[in-house]
Parts: sequence; structure tokens; C-alpha cells
Amino acid sequence: MFTKRFYDLCPYVPGEQPVDRDYVKLNANENPYPPAPAVGTELENFDIADFRRYPDPDSRALCRSIAKMLGNGIHEDMIFAGNGSDEVLSFVFYTFFDSDAPLFFPEHTYSFYPVYAGYYGIPVARIPLESDFSICIDRFLDKPSSGVIFPNPNAPTGIFLPLEKIRSLLERYPAKKAIVIDEAYIDFGGDSAISLLADFPNLVVIRTFSKSFCFAGARLGYAVANPELIKGLLTTKNSFNHFPVDTLTQKMGVAACENSSYYAGINAEIAETRDWFSTELRTLGWDVLPSKANFVFARKSGFSGEQVYLFIKEKGVLVRYFDHSGIEDFVRITIGTPDQMGFLHRIMEEIT
Ligand code: PMP
Repeated sequence: MFTKRFYDLCPYVPGEQPVDRDYVKLNANENPYPPAPAVGTELENFDIADFRRYPDPDSRALCRSIAKMLGNGIHEDMIFAGNGSDEVLSFVFYTFFDSDAPLFFPEHTYSFYPVYAGYYGIPVARIPLESDFSICIDRFLDKPSSGVIFPNPNAPTGIFLPLEKIRSLLERYPAKKAIVIDEAYIDFGGDSAISLLADFPNLVVIRTFSKSFCFAGARLGYAVANPELIKGLLTTKNSFNHFPVDTLTQKMGVAACENSSYYAGINAEIAETRDWFSTELRTLGWDVLPSKANFVFARKSGFSGEQVYLFIKEKGVLVRYFDHSGIEDFVRITIGTPDQMGFLHRIMEEIT
């Protein structure tokens, strides 16, 4: 009944969504604040009759708005929009990573990368992190690879790799192979690699509206790269699904871009809450990795990640742990509102 390739699939497992009771949900790096009011206005004013027509297949008005928001010499032909950045990543894997050499990514990173690699038959090499869990770029240069991908800040560590290191990697890496920086969490305090695009035509930056733009349920992500690379992504997209972004999401996306200062405000608040929460946890004796994302990765000596997760879940808060050797003692905690984090802090005080 099923194909041979089907039996090789290893699907990604997202943060759980239990329905047995109400939880404070801090397990999927979602934004605790609502989207900009202008997005709601766009939704209210939407003419349902517009659903009769197919959307613009290439989301041109949206790509124009994204380019305008990004500034930095970015033009609309440098933007590719998709149905969430997971879909954009899928097209990126198909378009840029060959199977003649392994794709390099950090040992501990976004767990969808190995899933896509398996899906497309791309061999992989997991490159060890430093003992402080930071990324060592020299290790991406040791052996031939078909490309490099990592999030910056990395997930689930939250650690930001300074741009000088990314520049140094690009300078020393073969110009004919892609380096993909997944900036899902960049708006919470890191510096974007978009400023390096002018110098490196093999750089691809991936962004999402899901986290910093409060859009996880609307599904919108994009790639920023050289126009030649964007054309490649369009070819891949048109060989799979011509219309990845629906009409309403395209319109709401434009409204979001036009209100980026609203998002800068709430994301600065999240960063402030994160820094407060990290300091408080450290005072309680937790080891908290330095995060520039909207989550922290923390462990307490004597407890496994699973034990901490279960204790916290029992009290009504969902966080996440990863059953992967080397990070099994950690829990990943999304930063919510100050009230939510105060509530969680009181729970975590009991873990002694
Ligand atoms: N990249 C990273 C590093 C992520 O953590 C996530 C969220 N799970 C994504 C990409 C995908 O986000 P989305 O598909 O919602 O845009």
C-alpha cells in the first residue's frame, strides 16, 4: 500500500497541544501578545467574495512590503514568501542541498532539519557544539559539505552567534554552496545576517512571522537572498504548490509589515522579561544558557529535563524537554507575559 520511501520518514514532533485542562502554554515559542491592531482591521474589512479567486501565486505585494520593512537595500525580487518558514525551509533543502556531500548543521539544533534531510535523501553531519553550547564555525570548514544550515540564535539553546563569525564562515566557505541562516528568533535581540547579503550571493536568510509577528496560526514565512536564488525557490515552489500563501494571509502580512514598530515594542518587552526571568532562575541555582531568543534553555543539577517538565506540567504550565543525549537535562521555556513568568517562577522555586 505505502511506498518504500514512505517507510523511511521520521516526522517532526511539535510542542504538544493537550486538551485535558487549561495550561499556560510556554512550549512552542509562540508570542504571548496579540498581532498589531491593523492586522485585525484587515481581517474585519476582508471581503469574503475575494475567496473565489486564487491568490497571487508569488505574493508580490507582500514581498514588496517585507522588502520595504527590511530596508538595507533589499528589493522585492530578493524575497520569497511561503506557508510558514517550515515550508520555505523545505523548498530551500530541495533547491540548494545536494546529496553528493553531507549537509552540515549543529549537533543540537532545530529538529526539523534532519527530518527534511531524510525526506529529500540528503546525507547529514551533525557538528558538535562547544562545551558552552555555542556554535564553532571552524568545524563547518573541516570537511567538504553540500551546504550549512543553522538558526541564529540557535534553537533550542537560544545562543546568538555574532555576525563577525558568520562573515568569517562565509569568507572561507565555497561560494558555490549555500549557507542558510534561519532567523526565526532574530527579532528578540540578535543582529540579522541580512546586512551580509550584499557581499555573499550564496547566503540565504530565513524568517518567520510566527514568533516575533504573533502569526503562528496564520502561517507565513520568507527567505531573503540574491534574486538568482529566489528564482530557484520559485521554480521549486511552482513544482509543488503554486499558491502557498492564501489571499487573507498575504493582506494581513502587509498590514503587519506596515506596523513593524508595534512588534519592535512587544518584542523588546519579551526580551526584558527573558532577562529578568533568566536572572531569577540563576539566583535559584539554575544553569540558564545566555539567550537572545524568546525562550530560555535551563537545567538544575540533580534533575532530568523530563522530571522538571512533568513537575511543571502538573502545576498547569507546559514547557518542553528534548530526549537527546547531551541536552536531556534541560527544559526549553518560552517567554510569556510577566504574569505568566512570575507564576512559573513560583513553581520552579519548589524544585530544590
Ligand atoms: N525555524 C526554527 C528554528 C524554529 O524553531 C521554527 C518553529 N518551530 C521554525 C523555523 C518554523 O516556524 P514556522 O513554520 O512557524 O514559520
